Amino acid sequence: SKDIKVALVTGGNRGIGYELVKQLAFIGFKIILASRDSEMGHKAIQQLRESNLDVSFVSIDVNNQESIRQAAVAINEKYGRLDVLINNAGVYLDENKQLLNMDPSILENTMATNFFGVYHMIRSFIPLMEKQGYGRIINVSSEYGTMSEMSYPGVGAYKMSKFALNGLTQLIAVEIKSDIKINAVDPGWVSTDMGGPSAPRTPEQAAESILWLATTGAEGPNGGFFRDGKRIDW
Ligand code: NDP
Repeated sequence: SKDIKVALVTGGNRGIGYELVKQLAFIGFKIILASRDSEMGHKAIQQLRESNLDVSFVSIDVNNQESIRQAAVAINEKYGRLDVLINNAGVYLDENKQLLNMDPSILENTMATNFFGVYHMIRSFIPLMEKQGYGRIINVSSEYGTMSEMSYPGVGAYKMSKFALNGLTQLIAVEIKSDIKINAVDPGWVSTDMGGPSAPRTPEQAAESILWLATTGAEGPNGGFFRDGKRIDW
């Protein structure tokens, strides 16, 4: 039907992103899995189809503005709307060195994906939301994205990128009009390729702790940073 909401998740082929796709499909969204690697993306979709979940694919490398632009055109042509955008794709490139001692490319590449990637995604997809005066944008951040806890030597690039992402979230929240909301969320420490095997949270639990932001009402939060539904002072 015309009223089925459309959701897009970047980095949907594995980890938290894959679980976000799965749960959004399960609760009835028309869901588009974005992956920079077409083969990995289609493999993930095949796996979801085996659970009877209908998921579409779009190729997005968030470091590549042209790929973002093309995806926005394709989604506009095919669905004419976007209701939920989850900026989940991210990298952790730090090698236990401080900002002043690291190879600058570590900081540049981390910012390119975790910060500018999100910025370009938002710029390209917000027109689809403005068209219908509705949208929910969720930026997957991290507990490192705060300056109120300063005890993370050796994680400087990642920390910088997520702090900047929280700032971007807050600033864009002030700029957007109508019923469009943007929020950042810390999923906790999650057992994925990035989080490693000793992380206490499953991707399922992480996705659950994020997805309430996809269905908040007009009175819901805007420009906040949350963990498990609670606002974090960052
Ligand atoms: P994974 O490393 O398991 O997955 C990362 C995903 O991001 C992959 O799908 C990867 O694609 C994708 N990705 C990376 N770079 C790009 C790019 N340039 N364009 C498109 N996709 C890209 O990580 P998680 O699932 O653990 O992390 C997801 C998010 O959660 C990240 O933003 C991370 O910072 C955040 N987070 C994770 C925590 C944890 O404990 N795991 C804790 C706090 C936050 P590919 O498969 O092609 O590499």
